[in-house]
Amino acid sequence: LLYNQVQDLKGNIRVYCRVKPFLKKHPDERSVVDHIGENGDIIIANPQKQGKDGRKIFSFNKIFGVSATQSEVFVDTQPLIRSVMDGYNVCIFAYGQTGSGKTYTMSGPDLTAEDTWGVNYRALDDLFRISKSRADIITYDVSVQMIEIYNEQVRDLLVADGTNRRLEIRNNSQLNGLNIPDASLVPVKCTQGVLELMKIGQGNRAVGATALNERSSRSHSVLTVHIHGKELVSGSTIRGCLHLVDLAGSERVDKSEATGERLKEAQHINRSLSALGDVISALAQKSPHIPYRNSKLTQVLQHALGGQAKTLMFVHINPEVDAFGETISTLKFAERVS
Ligand code: ADP
Ligand code: MG
Repeated sequence: LLYNQVQDLKGNIRVYCRVKPFLKKHPDERSVVDHIGENGDIIIANPQKQGKDGRKIFSFNKIFGVSATQSEVFVDTQPLIRSVMDGYNVCIFAYGQTGSGKTYTMSGPDLTAEDTWGVNYRALDDLFRISKSRADIITYDVSVQMIEIYNEQVRDLLVADGTNRRLEIRNNSQLNGLNIPDASLVPVKCTQGVLELMKIGQGNRAVGATALNERSSRSHSVLTVHIHGKELVSGSTIRGCLHLVDLAGSERVDKSEATGERLKEAQHINRSLSALGDVISALAQKSPHIPYRNSKLTQVLQHALGGQAKTLMFVHINPEVDAFGETISTLKFAERVS
């Protein structure tokens, strides 16, 4: 079966689970991942709890264990990239608690090392490669936007002067799929050009934040690639877009400990992640009402969630025993949307 046929059979939502390796593994440290099956099953067990209560099984489209490389992870993403060039809208999400490997999957640990590049760069690389291979039939224009959503405010990450202004969302089909028309839209010709932009974007993410890591784990970042193709003979056009979303950390915050700004941030994150879960599970169940209006995140992505659009969610888990509770809640979220 071709990938697109599999998609038709299973619907347009896929969920992959990736397990982060131990970084400083103590000899006696145990993983909560008890077993990974061939067919997308994963068994999670808490070594501190005996018996059935401590063991849970979850099923997804695919599980990537600790030894999966960036290129192995990307192979299963690649068919979606081709869809974008064929005129589909696609969303790829990274979900998980802070430190579980979301940014590793999407961006990679080191922009200068090509073999560790994440999904973002590999996707762009593929888009340009496909564009080149079709050059005698279709000419493609590729342009990118990069925004972050922090405390339910949308900000442009590609402003050169770092002003990071607030933006409005307009769900207006007249705008050719551009529902944040005031966000910088930058044409790109090659993967290198995208790398330069991502550096600007990452720099702007730090502006105004006391600590970069802190801020980046509490905002959603969305890199959107717009493609516009024109068939040379017929003159007909194709539009597709790819949203690459590094979500805010999904960890629950202890209400008795968080106060002020921290509590406000946590509430915004909780609300937007559950709004995303609600939208995707409503789509999976083919519900007549899809609750897009409940968060900025789902409003921004509305045209790329549902209908013919395709969604891929990477859920990340941290195998440490201390993270057991968060891991279970991450996997429950993922199960609800798959
Ligand atoms: P998050 O974005 O979810 O907060 P990160 O992607 O920053 O988490 O990952 C936390 C740390 O773990 C980083 O140092 C990262 O390089 C490392 N890491 C995450 N996933 C992997 C992996 N699959 N292989 C090797 N190191 C990883
Ligand atoms: Mg991160």
